[in-house]
Order: sequence, then structure tokens, then C-alpha cells
Amino acid sequence: MTPVLQVNDLRVYFNTPRAVVKAVDDVSFSLNAGERFGLIGESGSGKSTIALAIMRLLRAPGEVKSGEVLLDGENLLTLSDAEMRRRRLSSVAMVTQGAMNSLNPVIRIRQQFADGLNSHGMNLSKDQAREHLADLLTRVGLKREVADMYPHELSGGMKQRVCIAFAISLRPSLIIADEPTSALDVVVQRQVMQTLRQVQEELGAAVILIGHDMGLMAQFADRIGVLYAGKLVEQGPVRQIFRKPEHPYTRLLMESLPSLEEKETLVGGFGSPPSAAERPRGCVFHPRCPYVMDRCIDIEPVYRQVAPNQWAACHLHDEADSSGMESPLTPLKEARS
Ligand code: SF4
Repeated sequence: MTPVLQVNDLRVYFNTPRAVVKAVDDVSFSLNAGERFGLIGESGSGKSTIALAIMRLLRAPGEVKSGEVLLDGENLLTLSDAEMRRRRLSSVAMVTQGAMNSLNPVIRIRQQFADGLNSHGMNLSKDQAREHLADLLTRVGLKREVADMYPHELSGGMKQRVCIAFAISLRPSLIIADEPTSALDVVVQRQVMQTLRQVQEELGAAVILIGHDMGLMAQFADRIGVLYAGKLVEQGPVRQIFRKPEHPYTRLLMESLPSLEEKETLVGGFGSPPSAAERPRGCVFHPRCPYVMDRCIDIEPVYRQVAPNQWAACHLHDEADSSGMESPLTPLKEARS
């Protein structure tokens, strides 16, 4: 199967007066049609920067230094600005945490929807636009009457559903959801995620879900990629990674999840991520890693396959790789999978 999206060796740098900040450093991943991929990492790990690079919405001093973003086989990074504007919404759409605040509070939903379609050259008749919007609102669990309301009359969850309706209006093959529910309470969060999943399945679109909530990733994603200091340090099927993470950072993230059975297993507090301007040499995670070895301080680990469909960048796999041994990291409890 040809992937819908292939991100190859992506590097995004910020040229600041103090230093060149490598916000995204040699990141590669791909998605098939209908697949849900979670990008997880702490604040500053580069996950939102990847989204902005795919959407071609990076602002100076950020720039794509190298790499490819192939969407349906077409490299988005080489399109003209006008071509890229046409791809947004029709090929790739984004729903962000602040998307609901991007709705103009004093313009009715119907008008904002019509403006969006017009800017993409979709000249629907009034009746066609009315029916299209009614269909989209129904799909995201809202009444068609919402079309005649102002955003300031809607709750946060309703506004986020309107944003999802707008995002799928031109049936994109890729939806990027960047922390789409972090401003919502837990119950509404769950409902909005169910809505996103439902419309994504109906459309057959691939989704990148960006966030830091492992629980949400476990419920939503098929596969996850773990980012640390601009590097993709692990990638694989979500259940497999939850059962047996192959990178110490992923393992610490998992162990930090509170367990219903063993409340005392909340680990947390394993230090802070490095400053973006001063990434450590060798393995970027070495100052925080409980398994650190001499070689980790100077030599960057190779990102390699460590299990079926699972990749990680860690020197703990060096010996396992050459001798065919099992990885030294033991499985986490089945209860977490
Ligand atoms: Fe830890 Fe070394 Fe693996 Fe880095 S390479 S995660 S420091 S064991």
C-alpha cells in the first residue's frame, strides 16, 4: 500500500541571534489511508513544529532546512505558495487547540463557512452550500440550526465540532489534530475525540494526533511516534509500545501514568528537557536517562528496527542487535496495554 503521507528526513531549524535551534532534527514517518498516528512528546519536543512544516505555516526565523513531505506522492515543500493554499483544506486540514478561537465570534457560522469555500474557489449555489453545511454539522453531531448561530453562542465543545466540520468540508486525505481538546473538560474532550474518529473513519482520511496525553493516544491512535528534543526516539503500534517500550524515555512516560492498581507507581519528576538552543551531544536523552552508559555521552544512537514494526534510537539495542539477544528493557505490566 502506498502511504498517504511520507515525511522523510525532515529538519526544521530556527536561526536565532544566540544559536541555530534544531527544533526538528532528521524526523521520518509515514501514514497509510485511514491510519491514526499519534505524535507525543513534552512541550518543545518539536511536535507542533512538524505540523506547521507539513502545513507550510512556519514563520521566520523557522525554516525547513531539508527533507520531504510527500502527500499523495506530491512534495508539499516544493509547491508554490498559491498551490499550497489550494492544498490546505482540500488535501490537508488542521484542527488546533486554538481553532475554536479562530472563529470570528460576531459572524454567523454559515457566512464563515461560505467565505472558506469561496477562498478555495468552490462556488456553490446558496442551496448547495446550505445543504453541504447542514450535512457537515450533522456529521459532527450538531443540529443544522447551528449554521445560523454566532460562535459566541456556542460552548467550547460545539465550537471545536464546528472546526472539525470545516476541516472535513473538502474531504482532505490528511487531518492534523494538534492538541484539539486540551482546552476542554474531560467529558467534552472524550466526545470531541469520538466525533473526530467517526468523521475520519467515514472519510477514510489519515490523522496525525499531536499531544502529550498518553491515555488519549492509547484510546485514539493505531501507532505512535515519541519525540524528544526534536528527535523521533521511538515509533511503533500503540499497544505494542504500551506493553514494551524500547526506549528509556518512552518507558518513563509510561511509568509516569498513574495506575489504578498501584497508585504508588506514579514516577514523574525525572528532570526537565534540555534547552532548545543547547541540545546535549551523543544521545539527546542522556542527562535524564537512568540507563546511561559511557558511549551515550558522545555517540548518537542509530535509529533502528528493534521489534516487528517498532523502531527506537538507543544504545541499549547495540548488543541486542549484534547478538540477536532480546532487548534489555523488560515489558511493562499487561495492565497498561
Ligand atoms: Fe539512555 Fe543511552 Fe539509550 Fe540514550 S542511548 S536512551 S542515554 S541508554
